[in-house]
Amino acid sequence: MPSATEQQHTLGKTASLSGTSLHTGDKVTLKLHPAPADHGLKFKRADLQDEPTIDARIDNLKTVERSTTIGEGSVRVHTVEHVLSALSAMGVDNAVVEMNANEPPIGDGSAQPYVDLIKKAGVTAQEAPRKFLDVRETMHIESKTGSLLVLLPDDKFRISCTQAGPDNRFTQYLSMEITPAVFEREIAPARTFVFYEDVQSLMDKNLIKGGSLENAIVVRGDAVLSKEPLRFPDEFVRHKILDIIGDLALLGNRIRGHLIAVKPGHGVNAELARALAREQTRRSALAGPHPIPIGEGGLAPDEVMQILPHRYPFLLVDRIIGFEGETKVIGMKSVTINEPYFQGHFPGHPVMPGVLQVEAMAQVASILLFKLTKKSSRVGYFMSADGVKFRKPVFPGDTLIIHAELTKARGARLAKTMCHCLVNGAVVSEGELMFTFLDK
Ligand SMILES: [Zn+2]
Repeated sequence: MPSATEQQHTLGKTASLSGTSLHTGDKVTLKLHPAPADHGLKFKRADLQDEPTIDARIDNLKTVERSTTIGEGSVRVHTVEHVLSALSAMGVDNAVVEMNANEPPIGDGSAQPYVDLIKKAGVTAQEAPRKFLDVRETMHIESKTGSLLVLLPDDKFRISCTQAGPDNRFTQYLSMEITPAVFEREIAPARTFVFYEDVQSLMDKNLIKGGSLENAIVVRGDAVLSKEPLRFPDEFVRHKILDIIGDLALLGNRIRGHLIAVKPGHGVNAELARALAREQTRRSALAGPHPIPIGEGGLAPDEVMQILPHRYPFLLVDRIIGFEGETKVIGMKSVTINEPYFQGHFPGHPVMPGVLQVEAMAQVASILLFKLTKKSSRVGYFMSADGVKFRKPVFPGDTLIIHAELTKARGARLAKTMCHCLVNGAVVSEGELMFTFLDK
């Protein structure tokens, strides 16, 4: 059983690799850089102005057509799953993947080149503890196309996968615990494979310019076409496991659970990662009765009032329960029947107005921004809210747990935060709030 004190890891030094990108056929250089604890995995587009970065997180998932694409704003990186799979399975928690194109080099279609690169850079332990998501209850995801993912509790990360091609040709099954040694030996060398009927139209449209028998196995009828012979008799199911690990790396935390996957694909893999991310949010709000810390951990009401200018009836945060690093904060607000708005919203059926929940999110988020800009003379102003959703009503007697996480800080001017309000562990409202910084 992994010890509770398992540490985060990053790379020992920068290492780089050049090759051809699959979809455009362009030359690309990929560099893996070390990153500090709690940084996570991020992509950096060195070919674009200001070299934007994209967090390898499920919130940034854009498309799952044949490969996995993530993006923020208008910036995209395609086919991220093989490099993420290698980083995650080889035990790298924190790294920057820098590229001078929108896609990593495809290499031989496996994760082998990335494993070699990680070994060249070395993997070193960091001070912070590794973050895990322990599966406590069975979860399952099904698709109309016959994919099924079932996740069971386990004290290790295991995958049992069944792969089947069209008409159930090449049906293969494999089950294993995923460790760096197992990944390197059994999974990383497995190459991408395609069924001819699936790629014919893409080839005709010239959409896979860098694609060739050097970086994929093509199955036509019962014939297996590839530059070199199969590396394993069941190479296909091994590659499916490789893709699953890469897609689930978008969760951020490591999974302790047993995944049973039948005909997996990027679409269902991503759906599972999303469901796990929701579970993670739910749990962080449920993590026991929140201890009310004094000093460093949180902020008592008088300390909140020293930061926020708001007063009754417009102060919508009672306490800050705690901060997680520099980018996360959790606050709380007890919603009592004495709130003035309940008199009119609505008589006989009191519910907390959604806009006040957004205001509560903005107040909690601005405490985080205050902490970030403490040393400067600037102050953050609430500018806009995107994707606001009210999922459940909030009633008198509820305790609102308000999460705010900094997702983007562009220069010294703009900050984006993803905010959630929870009651009894369920998300009641959410929204992405943007702030601008102005001189005081
Ligand atoms: Zn793949």
